[in-house]
Amino acid sequence: MTRAMTLMNDQTPMTDAPAAKATPTLPDAQVVTAVKHYTDRLFSFRVTRPASLRFRSGEFVMIGLMGDPDPKTGKQRPLLRAYSIASPSWDEELEFYSIKVQDGPLTSKLQHVQVGDEIILRPKPVGTLVHDALLPGKRLWFFSTGTGFAPFASLLRDPETYELYDQVIVTHTCRDVAELTYGADLIESIKTDELLVELIGEENLAKLVYYPTTTREQSPKMGRITDLLKDGTVFKDLGIEDGLSAETDRAMVCGSMGLNVDIKEILESHGLEEGANSDPKHYVVEKAFVG
Ligand SMILES: Cc1cc2nc3c(=O)[nH]c(=O)nc-3n(C[C@H](O)[C@H](O)[C@H](O)COP(=O)(O)OP(=O)(O)OC[C@H]3O[C@@H](n4cnc5c(N)ncnc54)[C@H](O)[C@@H]3O)c2cc1C
Repeated sequence: MTRAMTLMNDQTPMTDAPAAKATPTLPDAQVVTAVKHYTDRLFSFRVTRPASLRFRSGEFVMIGLMGDPDPKTGKQRPLLRAYSIASPSWDEELEFYSIKVQDGPLTSKLQHVQVGDEIILRPKPVGTLVHDALLPGKRLWFFSTGTGFAPFASLLRDPETYELYDQVIVTHTCRDVAELTYGADLIESIKTDELLVELIGEENLAKLVYYPTTTREQSPKMGRITDLLKDGTVFKDLGIEDGLSAETDRAMVCGSMGLNVDIKEILESHGLEEGANSDPKHYVVEKAFVG
């Protein structure tokens, strides 16, 4: 077992990888090396990484499975969906954090993948949740709901994130406490896993602030992040006296359409402007899903 694999098994004890890799038979096939289920709606899995795949932490790729045979022709076509790569760019495998939509064309099947199975992975990473799309700043905010945590799971394990900022604040809002587990485990691993601590640098760990909230089940911090920003609770809780400003704050947002729209409004009311790869500014946004 490699060091990177050992690391993942330590931080999120998934099903162990098989000793030998299956021979790829699908187009752009990668082999599943670990699977972990969190709730009846959430799971994560790891796959082999194509040797040629380079990506920037925070980007997404198209992944999937072969669809059902066409009733007329019997032909099967790949069924692909956008997925944030949840692992950092230095990791020798790729990790994904996924929803299970019971009648979803892809995830109704994908949720059953097991170690040794193959998935299709188109090796063309893209996305706006990357450091290149932001101007230099002092404080970086990651605002996420649900599986929108995935790109930040990548960026939070990338040492560059801490080199670029004095403080890195990650907010994650879900309905229930169990839905926070993947994120909570990841934060814990960053602070305790030997390899991650060494990579990120012990002195940088104090920069990381985790702010989980729930909207339905009782937890230490309840409420939508947008409401907690608007009424100043977040700033009070984190001891930030000056609020948000275009001078110091940078943000990446990944959630439902509703979250994205509402956070954009809040950020813009503080003078922050939306950036892009070709035009870096103060914040960037990506949908966690369409619908
Ligand atoms: C840029 C981008 C990145 C994405 N990254 C991820 C990711 O890292 N992990 C992930 O699980 N999904 C991600 N998605 C969503 C993903 O592409 C699929 O929609 C999802 O896997 C469900 O596929 P499906 O075929 O089963 O159902 P679909 O037909 O795609 O979706 C059915 C319905 O399920 C709901 N839904 C879909 N995805 C989600 C979700 N993630 N959370 C809550 N509700 C959802 C929506 O209401 C949608 O209309 C991303 C989407 C985009 C656009």
